[in-house]
Amino acid sequence: MKVILEARDVSYHYPGDREAIRGISFHVKKGEKVALVGPNGAGKSTLLQMFNGMIRPGKGTILFDNEPIRYDASSLRQLRKRVGYVMQNADRQIIAPTVYQDVAFGPANLGYDEKAIHEAVALALRQVGMAGFERRPPHHLSGGEKKKVAIAGVLAMDPDILVFDEPTSGLDPSGSEDLMELLEELNHEGKTIFISTHDVELAYPWADRVILLLDGEILEENVPAVAFGDPELVRKAHLSVPILLELSQELGRRGFAQPEQKPRSVLDMIHILENLLQHKTCCHPSPGTISVFNVDEGDLSSVSVWMQARPGICIGAMGTRAKMCAAKENLTLAFTYGVIDKCILRALRGQDSLILTTNAMAARVGARVEAYCKESGTTICVIPLMSDSDTGSRE
Ligand code: ADP
Repeated sequence: MKVILEARDVSYHYPGDREAIRGISFHVKKGEKVALVGPNGAGKSTLLQMFNGMIRPGKGTILFDNEPIRYDASSLRQLRKRVGYVMQNADRQIIAPTVYQDVAFGPANLGYDEKAIHEAVALALRQVGMAGFERRPPHHLSGGEKKKVAIAGVLAMDPDILVFDEPTSGLDPSGSEDLMELLEELNHEGKTIFISTHDVELAYPWADRVILLLDGEILEENVPAVAFGDPELVRKAHLSVPILLELSQELGRRGFAQPEQKPRSVLDMIHILENLLQHKTCCHPSPGTISVFNVDEGDLSSVSVWMQARPGICIGAMGTRAKMCAAKENLTLAFTYGVIDKCILRALRGQDSLILTTNAMAARVGARVEAYCKESGTTICVIPLMSDSDTGSRE
């Protein structure tokens, strides 16, 4: 994979202060999801602000697309089109009196004409699920909605990489889940995502790679299970071992064989425990099914007959457009985050589910279920729903 962002021996100190960043080197590959994890004061915000040139390193170089960043006004404008930075506090990022004007600010600054601005704003608001909010004053929105407007403002410039400083800070648990799902969706649409956080439970299941930062230095850089797997190191960084990893380590210490692939979800952990307890067969003698409907390929109302025939069916939605379609049809969603795993867990209990998805996310359902079935020796049917005629034939 191509390297998109690189830090080479970067240091920085605030005037009159000791060094906030001390000789850091790392790179981010295109399409990766990277989490920079460290306690308060570790230097995360300082480092992030170097990525789009807001802070210039005192020593060392930041490279974007293999070119050292240049700090003249025109180069910075171009860089900020490609490196979208979403601040921790959306109130500081949102400046205009209406949502439309705020999201239009970036494209207008880049010199887009009126029509291109309009298209960019419409697309960005659709991507974050905020279409229809164009004329609303941002200060009347909830914390989660403001965050989405701030993200839309960055997306409107169609950046290659999105950098989020503490993306879920200030959001309630459901707002946080919603936001992490949006990051997942944007990643599937091709964006590289770099976040800073001190929340290990958030970073552990989400990131492809974790960089542990303490006192401006990198302590460890690895896949999450390794980066968070050394209790000594994690304690040193004033963090904690993610609960699933800790549980797996504890089982290992007690002599229970643990798979090489560490659990990153409740589903993974259930699978490990089932193997240990050898209850596999009695737990799910006859697994339920997972039906999938792609809202980008058909009108959700076309499967209403199918849904009416299953009044208790549990529905999950992956992707912003899928959630919007469900809202339009007044469907109650049981799952909006970690949807595939939650539906596999239901299937293991013998219950059926329906997943609403978008083009960007559709392939993930089959791939995840297939991988789980291969690993566990279970068979769970994934049924694509196309239209009423199709679903009728399966009744
Ligand atoms: P984090 O994002 O991990 O909490 P920061 O990058 O905000 O860490 O801060 C790293 C260090 O730099 C801390 O010691 C902090 O006090 C200091 N620092 C941050 N911003 C400023 C500033 N504007 N002026 C002086 N020192 C700062």
